[in-house]
Amino acid sequence: MFWPALAIVFGLALGAAWYYWRQHQAEAKRELAARETRVAELEEQQRLIREQARDQQQALFNSMVEGVLFVDRDGRIQSANSSLEQLFGLTTDIRGQTILEALRTHELSELAARLLRDGTVSGLELNLAGLNSRCLEVNAATVLNQTGERQGAIFVFHDLTRIKQLENTRQEFVANVSHELRTPLSLIKGFVETLLDGAKNDPEVATRFLQTIEKHTDRLTYLIEDLLTISRLESGQIVLNLQSVDLRAAAGQVIADLSSRAKAKSVTLENHVPAGLSARADSDRLQQVFFNLIDNAIKYGREGGRVEVMGAAFADWQVELRVTDDGAGIPPEAQERVFERFYRVDRARSRDTGGTGLGLAIVKHIVQSHHGEVSVTSVPGEGTSFLFRLPEK
Ligand code: ADP
Repeated sequence: MFWPALAIVFGLALGAAWYYWRQHQAEAKRELAARETRVAELEEQQRLIREQARDQQQALFNSMVEGVLFVDRDGRIQSANSSLEQLFGLTTDIRGQTILEALRTHELSELAARLLRDGTVSGLELNLAGLNSRCLEVNAATVLNQTGERQGAIFVFHDLTRIKQLENTRQEFVANVSHELRTPLSLIKGFVETLLDGAKNDPEVATRFLQTIEKHTDRLTYLIEDLLTISRLESGQIVLNLQSVDLRAAAGQVIADLSSRAKAKSVTLENHVPAGLSARADSDRLQQVFFNLIDNAIKYGREGGRVEVMGAAFADWQVELRVTDDGAGIPPEAQERVFERFYRVDRARSRDTGGTGLGLAIVKHIVQSHHGEVSVTSVPGEGTSFLFRLPEK
């Protein structure tokens, strides 16, 4: 009895041990599998984070206003962002090419070579000629790895074209203003000196000279007034007081104000703006537009000629106004330029008639600040017509 019982107990113990061992094995496998899944999940998460970071870097790289270019230590392009492609008007992938092959500028290629050779940080101003004409400021630096070895170079391009254009416009404007102010001033000084030298003793000559001096001081006054108007319009200091303006009445008022000038040249002024036509405008500014256009039509029109002011509704929401003369007209090449500040077709004639060269620039500003548009059509020898559109009330 003893041995069989012992065998049964031993067998049971063995069975239990085997059962627990199997259980432990299964548990260990499950844990291993779970750990493997967690590792795989973590790896996947890291991959996604890396991809996201790369996408973000790429987006940042491409959204930069500055053009950026990386070259490796052999001078071959590794990457370029979208701004760089736009600045240089590139349409193909330039990776793998040298700077000279891709961008065709010797200056830049030499800068890259110097940078990769000497490792100095440099900058230069680059003027791109041709269709894609631009002025760029280039800043370049070498890229080092963790052990301090040169890996390549990075170039950052700032587009200075707009700043340069504004600077040129400013310089041109200052030069023009100085010239415009100096001309009447030196004439006035000349006449004053002649008067002091003895001409004042002849009353007839003195009166003539004084009248000329008065004419030039008037010109200076108009010029300063026009300059102030332009400056206020450009800086947005003039706030438009928009209201419904009766256009026939507005044109009529200016025609009345200019009637003596028209009479002096035997010019007939006709108001054909239909009664009841109105625009949403600043009344004072609109009168200034009419004044400058009608005044020009008298000045540059024919002696004994006719100036007509016309108006009509245009589309559903605009009115169209026209000031037409039958004068000498404007040559085709000058028609686009007459709205530029200080542009005159005939400088001497404009000065003689007291023109400042700013009248049409003011007209354009005022009309545009009303969200309108202005244009000119002219047939040399037949006449000129200035047209402007304003929002209808
Ligand atoms: P200005 O003070 O010289 O008249 P504007 O800006 O008013 O300056 O006009 C610019 C130029 O456009 C004038 O110098 C003139 O040559 C030309 N111009 C303007 N209006 C007329 C017109 N109705 N007929 C012919 N030329 C004109």
